[in-house]
Amino acid sequence: MSFIDLTKEIPFQLPIKEILFGEGVAEKAAKLCEGYGRLHLVCDENTKDFVHVNGGKTILPSDQKPSIITAQKLAKEDCDCFVAVGSGTVNDLVKYAAHLAGKPYVVFATALSMNGYASANASLLPEQGLKHSYAATVPKAIYMDSEILTDAPKRLRNAGIGDSICRAVVQADCLLSHKLIGTPTYGEYFTLMQRYENEMFDSIEALAKTLTFSGVAMLMAGSSAPASGGEHMLAHYMELEQADAPHSYHGEQIAVTTVAMTNIQMLRLQNDFEVFGLEAVNEETALKYNKIKPCKIYVEDFQAIIAGHDQIEVKLAAIGAPTMPDDLGWNTPTFVKAIHEAKLTRDRITFLDLI
Ligand SMILES: [Zn+2]
Repeated sequence: MSFIDLTKEIPFQLPIKEILFGEGVAEKAAKLCEGYGRLHLVCDENTKDFVHVNGGKTILPSDQKPSIITAQKLAKEDCDCFVAVGSGTVNDLVKYAAHLAGKPYVVFATALSMNGYASANASLLPEQGLKHSYAATVPKAIYMDSEILTDAPKRLRNAGIGDSICRAVVQADCLLSHKLIGTPTYGEYFTLMQRYENEMFDSIEALAKTLTFSGVAMLMAGSSAPASGGEHMLAHYMELEQADAPHSYHGEQIAVTTVAMTNIQMLRLQNDFEVFGLEAVNEETALKYNKIKPCKIYVEDFQAIIAGHDQIEVKLAAIGAPTMPDDLGWNTPTFVKAIHEAKLTRDRITFLDLI
């Protein structure tokens, strides 16, 4: 039984002690969690049989919402360390419960559906209002059992591919923002995130690495910027506007909005152009537009980044991932509105600002 430790491939000093991937990781749970004191495991109905450790246990319903109230209840459990067994919701809840309790946590990933395992933020529902990102605890360790991840539903894996495939779109947005207002280009993080990108479609290991590196990039940058550009703004806008649409996973939404962003970027980057300034219409746009220094945008600077843009939709369609607003039950006129208005929601410069 041999596991690989992904931290060995990451050229940065991390607060995460180990990130193990391999066959039989879950079987070794009790041993891996030794040294963390009294444990409290949190899972849901779908993941309750994957990992066994001594200590307390909370089994959440399979349709558990990531509500802050649930995280507050979990935080009161009597233990020295939390053990999360799950993906999106369980990870977010435990990450935040650990933060509230001031205790460490480790996570056993059960699906490669999103890039949040390594991140320092949890996306949760407050008592009232809409989902929000909260500062939370970085796990002491991330454990990825290759058999559990291989057996997870294909739809979840496709969502993880969606949350990763936006890398080139985000990188182009970051470069544009760098040129206009001097924000970082995050080049070293994109190099890491790109390493296994081509293999992630048919290799669980490559997808595990790509998602981990994306989480690590956010952690190191102290910001979601290297993993979240115009495509995430579009998805958040649509989530609010189309709250009654059928449930879709975050990564599925990002697949669709990434395809839209590739088209926007390719269209905008047909010729060199100059930006003298942009007219602010609200507080968010004023925050970013007031910093703009007139500059010329050369297509050549973006060419290497957007070279694979025309293949993104093809690759997503080939694995059966959604690519069009319709595929998610989103209404197309609202999506067109999102393309024009999502830029008003955040002080981050992306190609949406040039529409
Ligand atoms: Zn995302």
